[in-house]
Amino acid sequence: MTQQSLDNNKAIVVFSGGQDSTTCLFWAKKHFENVELVTFAYGQRHDTEIEVAKRIAQEQHVKHHILDMSLLSQLTPNALTQHDMDIEVGDDGIPNTFVPARNLLFLSFAGALAYQTNTKNIITGVCETDFSGYPDCRDSFIKSMNVTLSLSMDKDFVIHTPLMWLDKKATWALSDELGALDYIRYNTLTCYNGIVGEGCGECPACELRANGLNTYLAEKGVN
Ligand code: ZN
Repeated sequence: MTQQSLDNNKAIVVFSGGQDSTTCLFWAKKHFENVELVTFAYGQRHDTEIEVAKRIAQEQHVKHHILDMSLLSQLTPNALTQHDMDIEVGDDGIPNTFVPARNLLFLSFAGALAYQTNTKNIITGVCETDFSGYPDCRDSFIKSMNVTLSLSMDKDFVIHTPLMWLDKKATWALSDELGALDYIRYNTLTCYNGIVGEGCGECPACELRANGLNTYLAEKGVN
């Protein structure tokens, strides 16, 4: 029996409906003919997150897989799934918003889905620049995971991380290059208070996002 090789025109984006993964969606649409999204439901603080992801998938005409990952919240009651909003960084340098094994699980299931759909490319918006405290957002982890996924299914997957070395300003610049700055600005959800678009303006996620956007727009000469 000859093994079917994976389709290099196909890509799956790990998708949350936030700024980063939506930028990855537009990046993927530019580079691959057939793009699908996978969103993991794990008891996020706001159900809005799943609704926003669904809406973006519909508006951008891409197939959307939503997979139940509720076991994650059983294991990790913390700031991203509960209502305590303060982000603290522990002695080990890891913020309390860290959900252990989250990207390990997400990429494993994205890999299983890629296998089932004969998809070669897996795209994730992880980034070392702004959240270097998360060990499973680092480039070394992703490279290791790429090897593990390929070995585990005997397929040559490629994990792409277009945002790995970009700060928030550069991520906005990329979305502008992709012709999607306004769409991402007004339709994605990053805010810890669950407010779509420009958000509450006060939580750490809004602050980071707004600083990046304002710096980018200022340098571009738009007010
Ligand atoms: Zn906010």
